[in-house]
Amino acid sequence: MSSATAWIANRIKRDQIDKYLEGGRDFIQDEKIWDEINSAREPSKERAREILAKSLEVQTLTPAELAELIQVRDPEMIREMRETALKIKLKVYDSRIVTFAPLYMGSYCVNNCAYCGFKRENETARRRVLSMEEIRRETESLAGSIGHKRIIAVYGEHPLTGVDYIAESMRTIYDVKVPLGKGHGNIRRINVNAAPMPVEELKLLHDVGLGTYQVFQETYHHETYARLHPKGTLKSDYQWRLYAMHRAMEPETGIDDVGIGVLFGLYDWRFEVMALLHHAIDLESKMGIGPHTVSFPRLEPALNAPYVFQSPYRVSDQDFLKVIMLIRLAIPYTGMIVTARETADIRREAIYHGITQMDASSKLGIGSYSEDDGIQQEDRQQFILGDTRSLDELVRDFAKTGFITSFCTAGYRCGRTGKCIMELLRSGREGKFCKLNAVLTFQEWLDDFASPETREIGMKVMEKEINEIREKNPNGFKIFYEFLERIRNGERDLFL
Ligand code: SAM
Ligand code: SF4
Repeated sequence: MSSATAWIANRIKRDQIDKYLEGGRDFIQDEKIWDEINSAREPSKERAREILAKSLEVQTLTPAELAELIQVRDPEMIREMRETALKIKLKVYDSRIVTFAPLYMGSYCVNNCAYCGFKRENETARRRVLSMEEIRRETESLAGSIGHKRIIAVYGEHPLTGVDYIAESMRTIYDVKVPLGKGHGNIRRINVNAAPMPVEELKLLHDVGLGTYQVFQETYHHETYARLHPKGTLKSDYQWRLYAMHRAMEPETGIDDVGIGVLFGLYDWRFEVMALLHHAIDLESKMGIGPHTVSFPRLEPALNAPYVFQSPYRVSDQDFLKVIMLIRLAIPYTGMIVTARETADIRREAIYHGITQMDASSKLGIGSYSEDDGIQQEDRQQFILGDTRSLDELVRDFAKTGFITSFCTAGYRCGRTGKCIMELLRSGREGKFCKLNAVLTFQEWLDDFASPETREIGMKVMEKEINEIREKNPNGFKIFYEFLERIRNGERDLFL
């Protein structure tokens, strides 16, 4: 038996799935979801407004309510739904948009997903795993030149990038401090997107400072899942993946921020949206809190993955924005992420449908932040990006429309995670801390990294935000202003 085969043989712990099943079944019942969709009728205006009022109160919708919203065709009502989605975003997250960068650690993978450039059978992929020295260099570029404070570290599923490697890579990233004119640049929050893991491994990731743990189900539809993830591969176990987040939220791991998602384009988007809500509801009821984030990857071209073009379920731009709006209405408290897979135009629109987080200056080639020749290389990356704007451009774009880029990473370091953050989000009080920290970190970023043009527009947003804090939070203003002055005088990484 090769070492990779032996590694695969021992990964899945059946007892860490079975404990969550009910009557031997998982919580995604395909026929029931289709019944929910098909039995719903387009609601009257009055009924639709009743549902929207519930979303605006930051309450999770029921599947029946979401199914009704999916049926809405009336253009006036769709407009109202979009306006409500934006109102919820502003109520819960204010005008903040959190940014991050993806950092791909390795392209080896034991799986064979039909849509992915890293799949085992892609023989033309140039495979590589970053050494700790290379990770240090990548981090120096991200934290020292571009100015990122948070990253999502992405790993293929392979013994070369198993949990010990993941933990060591996280320690390496947190250790990097790049001297700047004032203070230093460093990564303050590492989120991880990696394969499902057993509880023991998840605990190790928590202990080295994990932010959010992300696993996307790709498709919740059992039969489609089985077709796209060949039998005999680790990823073919639907339930091991489905309960990855339940395991992560077991009290013994210590993790309480988890991110779910669907790879849109693999199956009917109406089914997937309903399934995401069922996932959130099951997490809420069994583990006490729902997902910290929902991600919306949409199928992109990838080397030697012709399925991407063959799928009959590719999602149009119009439906994609609708999907985002429906999730903002159905799971109103959750953070929502659209990545640079999408074009700049779609990402701008997505903000008005409820998105709260976006990556910037992204590069997917392994090692390409520090070694890059500026070109996307198909054989070196998982798929091709739609938006290659720099962080500076993105910050400027947001600022022009009144949104503030948040570099705040205080949440998990001062205990505002999990249940605590959910209660703050639901009650609209989260903004009290997060707005202040967003403004403080924005000033820090403008001083350290902004181009003159971005700084000029950014300082106008600062002025507006400072006035708003003075008016709306007079009690917090004094201490906030004291911290702001300290940052302007060169202190770094202060948070309230
Ligand atoms: N290997 C781990 C896994 O599959 O869970 C994590 C890393 S994988 C590189 C991260 C995500 O990329 C996958 O969960 C999938 O949703 C997304 N992805 C894969 N192929 C894609 C494609 N062609 N277009 C867009 N996203 C894709
Ligand atoms: Fe591997 Fe993840 Fe790509 Fe599937 S999606 S081939 S598991 S890297």
